[in-house]
Amino acid sequence: TEPQGTHRPGLLGRLMGGGREDEPRRVLDDEMLESLEELLIAADMGVDTALRVTSNIAEGRMGRRVSAREIKELLAEEIARVMETVARPLPLYPSKPQVVLVVGVNGSGKTTTIGKLASQFKAAGKSVVIAAGDTFRAAAVEQLQVWGDRAGVPVLTAPEGSDPASLAFDAMTKAQAEGADLLMIDTAGRLQNRADLMEELAKIVRVIRKKDPEAPHNTLLVLDATTGQNALVQTEAFRQLADVSGLVMTKLDGTAKGGVLVALADKFGLPIHAIGVGEQIDDLAPFDPEEFAAALTG
Ligand code: GDP
Repeated sequence: TEPQGTHRPGLLGRLMGGGREDEPRRVLDDEMLESLEELLIAADMGVDTALRVTSNIAEGRMGRRVSAREIKELLAEEIARVMETVARPLPLYPSKPQVVLVVGVNGSGKTTTIGKLASQFKAAGKSVVIAAGDTFRAAAVEQLQVWGDRAGVPVLTAPEGSDPASLAFDAMTKAQAEGADLLMIDTAGRLQNRADLMEELAKIVRVIRKKDPEAPHNTLLVLDATTGQNALVQTEAFRQLADVSGLVMTKLDGTAKGGVLVALADKFGLPIHAIGVGEQIDDLAPFDPEEFAAALTG
């Protein structure tokens, strides 16, 4: 697994120009702050967050000579401080099964993330059942079966087009009967039919609550880092459709800067349970705020 942000260009290279990093070359003035803001916005951090982070850095330092390293360290500290509040592994509950509902738009990496999580849980000695709740996408069901095989976890499916809630109910019954530790339920990602999706998710929740009033214990929203600021829009939308309890950000192994995570943390404060760092089964890592901040600030 590559460290977070290996391929990302440094934020500050352009801003500070050449010279030695530890040389206090430039005076911290409005112009420099504006350039800093622009860099943060270009890194998908969002305008509000970029403004706040820069103003925190400016506080008590205006008119002073600063080095690139000092700015970089301050920036990394600010980002890590915001991110520490949301870096949290998926909470585990004693319920059998703990039900994890997984939501997100198609292509975000739901299927892959479910496979990776199932594999991690399995390795931790937990028994897992997966329900292929996106019954309208045959390809998604097949893909989930492939992941289930890889992880050594049973995947419950239903005929194409059948009611996802009834599959969820059956899966819940089976998981309870087997005393499974975890039930992970995949869901459809058709955000373009918002009303349908809302009804579908609500119905799944309704039926599994017949079996356990506390379920689902987690509602995991999967987001794709390469969609940049769109991740904010998706989070807003899914929070209206479901009781989102935490996030997984996928595809942080690519060129995506991942700055949107800072905006997400700032705006919603939802826990970030894990990050996707590749297409293989082991490519799911805990979210490390300091590593992330260091990588983002280059
Ligand atoms: P779903 O439609 O939300 O279920 O998305 P999938 O799980 O099928 O993933 C869509 C594509 O993204 C697939 O090609 C995955 O291999 C890829 N993918 C998922 N997670 C990651 C990740 O963390 N890194 C990379 N590079 N690709 C990923």
